[in-house]
Amino acid sequence: MTIVPYALGLIGNTPLVRLKGPSEETGCEILGKCEFANPGGSVKDRPALFIVEDAEEKGLLQPGGTIVEGTAGNTGIGLALVANAKGYKSIIVMPDTQSKEKMDTLRALGAELVLVPAAPYSSPCHFVHQSRRIAEETENALWANQFDNTANRLAHIKTTAKEIWEQTGGQVDGFTCAVGTGGTLAGVAMGLKEFSEDVTIALSDPHGAALYEYYAHGELKAEGSSVAEGIGQGRITANLEGAPIDTQYRISDAEGLAWVHRLLGEEGLCLGLSSGINVAGAIELARKLGPGKTIVTILCDSGLRYLSTLYNPEWLAEKGLAIPPWLAEEE
Ligand code: PMP
Repeated sequence: MTIVPYALGLIGNTPLVRLKGPSEETGCEILGKCEFANPGGSVKDRPALFIVEDAEEKGLLQPGGTIVEGTAGNTGIGLALVANAKGYKSIIVMPDTQSKEKMDTLRALGAELVLVPAAPYSSPCHFVHQSRRIAEETENALWANQFDNTANRLAHIKTTAKEIWEQTGGQVDGFTCAVGTGGTLAGVAMGLKEFSEDVTIALSDPHGAALYEYYAHGELKAEGSSVAEGIGQGRITANLEGAPIDTQYRISDAEGLAWVHRLLGEEGLCLGLSSGINVAGAIELARKLGPGKTIVTILCDSGLRYLSTLYNPEWLAEKGLAIPPWLAEEE
């Protein structure tokens, strides 16, 4: 029997699950890394811990200090837990377009929540710039700066990639995921390529993001939009710089959502939309690499974080998205 000596020790070491439907459809083994099983419920607990511990080592955060961050929510949840465990305060700046569940969770965890209207990155009102200003104006505060602080991708180089390699016994042919900060994609890509240059790395980009065009044609260009939270990037963040990306796919919300609903209805996995987009990307990569290969992707967070949106028939209808049969109203 193993006893984890403290709660932050629960971060990482998540299981890999075989996704039956996607595997059967492609003749590949499609495996999902269960990041929803982290204590804060998402892939962002790992970078939250690495960013805070890196700052502590560099003397950037003193006892009783405050951690400030701009986030779509999940990094804020991870940081709030890390802050509580280490005796810091947390101030989380989040666009008011994100799910109510993430806002309620942040308040419940004790973070000071600052909601701001959605604004483009070029505007000083963008949540990232607002969080930087709040950090500057707060005494003894650390701005976590997840987009451009490479302690973020280091978390995935040192933990996620290593775990994937060990859990598959080195039998991994491909990896793909979408990008918010790029910490997961770049970190896992760099980490896996250190073990083997032969692993194919693919970007799965939602509509409305600019990275597909960048990796395909060298130009940052966005088209369309997505309701997926936590992903969709318009620039090359410091975390993305030098990421060894071999190929790229553009995945629609409809494709991602179809997998979210199928994985719940057929396999009992309740996931958020970025996970569905990742799974749709993993299927594209499986088709490229051919049958018999092993492809890993990230199951970023739980669908319980999106009950008011992805699992709400009125919201789905309003967005013109498919309603799963078990939520459709009886005639
Ligand atoms: N999915 C969800 C639900 C997220 O919150 C995030 C983080 N913003 C991501 C995917 C993307 O992760 P990363 O920041 O490592 O690119």
